[in-house]
Amino acid sequence: MIGLVCGHFAAGAGLRPWQGVPETYITAVLDHGGIPVLVPLGLKPEKEATVLAALDGLLLVGGGDVDPVFYGESRREWCGTPDRERDRSEMALIRGAIAQDLPFLAICRGIQVLNVALGGSLYQDIAREYPGSPLRHRTEERQAPAHPVDIEPGSRLAGIVGEPQVAVNSLHHQALKDVAPGLAVTARAPDGLVEVVEVEGCRFGLGVQWHPEELVAAQGHARALFHCLMEEADSPGGGTE
Ligand code: MN
Repeated sequence: MIGLVCGHFAAGAGLRPWQGVPETYITAVLDHGGIPVLVPLGLKPEKEATVLAALDGLLLVGGGDVDPVFYGESRREWCGTPDRERDRSEMALIRGAIAQDLPFLAICRGIQVLNVALGGSLYQDIAREYPGSPLRHRTEERQAPAHPVDIEPGSRLAGIVGEPQVAVNSLHHQALKDVAPGLAVTARAPDGLVEVVEVEGCRFGLGVQWHPEELVAAQGHARALFHCLMEEADSPGGGTE
């Protein structure tokens, strides 16, 4: 049972937003043998603990920008509209997952939430705050390779992927700035930006800046990430016995 944390989606004028998860993530979990369980925003802390105890793994999905208040900065004009309820819920759930060594994969916004939850910070916009990069990290092509990433030899990621360099899509305009204590950077883009972090001492706690759920049909390295999450979720000591 893999918990997918919901985001808010606009439902139209005058209507309260919906909560949900883009189907691509649900399909990727289903296709790798998992049971996707949607986790709503707005749970009280004791209920979050109840949900985490029932899960075998957690998946944080893509979405909007984390409110810079959570990393001690004021929001610049190039930062997106914040959703503090989602920020709070996801940061609490990811901290809970780390505390009980629940396997997790944190995708795109997810790697940023993971970093901020542990005390790191973000570039509010790569073009404005990390100028000079020859790479385009914000593309429209969800399934096309946008840039390579170099993988740290000997890392968990290297073992999962089995290649020193992979081509990934890139659909982000923010990126990790100060990397939080307890996170190891195990992949970077050629311009130096962080593309993967791993939680040190965790069975499987991995954040990726790209979108593997969009690449599962075409790229073995994307399937390998989901496969590894499912294997860890299945193994003894993963979530509930
Ligand atoms: Mn990128």
